[in-house]
Amino acid sequence: MIISIASGKGGTGKTTIATNLALSINNDVQFLDCDVEEPDAHIFLNPRIKKTLTASIPVPKIDESKCNFCGRCAEVCAYNALAVLKDKVLSFPHLCHGCGGCSLLCPQKAITEVNKDIGVVEIGNSNNLQFVQGILNIGETMSPPLIKAVKNYINPTRIVIIDAPPGTSCPVIEAIKGSDFCILVTEPTPFGLNDLILAVRVLRKLNISFGVVINRSDIGDNKLEDYCEKEDIPVLMRIPFKKEIAVAYSKGIPIVERFPEYKDEFVSLFKRIKERKE
Ligand code: SF4
Ligand code: SF4
Repeated sequence: MIISIASGKGGTGKTTIATNLALSINNDVQFLDCDVEEPDAHIFLNPRIKKTLTASIPVPKIDESKCNFCGRCAEVCAYNALAVLKDKVLSFPHLCHGCGGCSLLCPQKAITEVNKDIGVVEIGNSNNLQFVQGILNIGETMSPPLIKAVKNYINPTRIVIIDAPPGTSCPVIEAIKGSDFCILVTEPTPFGLNDLILAVRVLRKLNISFGVVINRSDIGDNKLEDYCEKEDIPVLMRIPFKKEIAVAYSKGIPIVERFPEYKDEFVSLFKRIKERKE
């Protein structure tokens, strides 16, 4: 079973929910940190990294001695990563998605592909928990291929927990697609509600079952709960604001370690998800 944890915006406690859920159902869990621009689950899970692999994408290399500057490659590139001048082809590797279209369609066979490193995939474990994370190179913008590289290590024999990036753009979609269930973490504030509505649209489009966890549930107003009720979205768990939780978080201490009574709550969250899938 693959459970992804996402949120329409950052700072809602997505990684808190993902790591505490993983620690509460410790047996047979594999944790994937797909928030590759800012992976921080390792702070709470303390994995021992055993393997580090470079992730790369193929980008075009032009042989201008074969090129007749026909412009076909620039036409087919949907990401404006190529521009053809009268006697020169300019390539912008930071815009390239590595789709291979230009090299496939170049009539002169003037394009070969070279690998461009975009980050690393780290693999390790924390006691029984299998751990995989992606770390995007500083200045690199192409996170979906790295997320894909992390997801290549999904172990289908385990309960897979994916910590997705925040937001609703391509990296999130890459991280959550293929999930059996997605937990949307939010908070009862106008920003929380606004970004939840956007995330709900994405999940409905992708046809992925989902439910909501409300963090800091006793702040703000009732509009979030009203929205979930009106839209028939299950609220799977509520975590009230507690200064001690925030202090523990700032020190990298998981909630279930600081407040062991929360473990049952996270186990119940997992059971509710399983029931909904069944
Ligand atoms: S498609 Fe090939 S031949 Fe045409 S401009 Fe691009 S590299 Fe040159
Ligand atoms: S590989 Fe794809 S994205 Fe990259 S330059 Fe070629 S057509 Fe554009």
